[in-house]
Amino acid sequence: MCSSDLSIMGIVVLRTVEEVRAYHNKVVAEFYEKNHRFPTIGFVPTMGALHQGHLSLIKKARENNDIVMTSIFVNPKQFAPHEDFAAYPRTLEADCKLIESVGCDAAFAPTDEVMYPKEPKYLTYVTIEGSDSVSEGAARPGFFRGVATVVTKLFNIVQPTNAYFGQKDGLQAIMVKQFVRDLNIPVTITVCPIVRAEDGLALSSRNAYLSPEERAAAPALYKSLCAFRACFEKGERDVQTLCQATRDSLAAEPRFKIDYLSVANAVTAEELSGKLCDAQLKDGIFVSIAAWIGTTRLIDNIRSEERR
Ligand code: AMP
Repeated sequence: MCSSDLSIMGIVVLRTVEEVRAYHNKVVAEFYEKNHRFPTIGFVPTMGALHQGHLSLIKKARENNDIVMTSIFVNPKQFAPHEDFAAYPRTLEADCKLIESVGCDAAFAPTDEVMYPKEPKYLTYVTIEGSDSVSEGAARPGFFRGVATVVTKLFNIVQPTNAYFGQKDGLQAIMVKQFVRDLNIPVTITVCPIVRAEDGLALSSRNAYLSPEERAAAPALYKSLCAFRACFEKGERDVQTLCQATRDSLAAEPRFKIDYLSVANAVTAEELSGKLCDAQLKDGIFVSIAAWIGTTRLIDNIRSEERR
């Protein structure tokens, strides 16, 4: 049933939708026979090149579910033609070892053709209105359409009870919650904290692109967000002043070129400006930044506690 040059690593690697369906039916039936209830299925969608950030999500899924599945798929629909789709690291064997080490049961690793067949032609997309007008969406038009489409498809294929996303892609987490709510998809979404290197750099598959000098300079991105936080904690509420403190901090590392710096409502993603008042702070604020260092684009964010 399962493909399985990779099952020797102890992890079941499913390559087609039919294989996932058969696996799902089998494990659910076996679990029901033993336990007289249906299992919960925890699911972690990824693009592979896995690191401790991804593994933190799988560990969380393992703690809270009977069966844990992940997907490893570099989704072409969320890359613009000029972006790094071809260069994106693909390390399936190493990924399988890592996910096995944290107790994942199975991985769905489809080809592009399985997800987006050419014959009959693939035609359906999930679009979240307004998602191309804020921060990461405005910087990468069509990105969230690609994400929402692939995540919807993965949910329909894997049929998880719970799905886990990282705060690392904070706007993505907001968008996923939005379309799950709008489309009544029966999945509970959990957002897990950002895992950082000791020097503060958020772990990312794209960190592999950095030269040693760029890697040494990269923590300046998180430091700039810490400058925002420090200024906010001192009582500053003017968005422009808070953003200037962030920009000034990042200017200390001239290799960085800011793509965007955004201050938004942490629940609705609505951009905030002017003086932040209590009503605007009610949902928490989400401060996100994208910046180029050499030819690598890094993103990071911080958010204040939700008070809703
Ligand atoms: P990706 O493979 O980049 O699509 O990421 C898959 C999932 O892992 C997404 O939900 C990311 O937000 C999450 N993720 C990536 N990096 C981190 C990190 N440093 N800490 C926590 N979650 C992360």
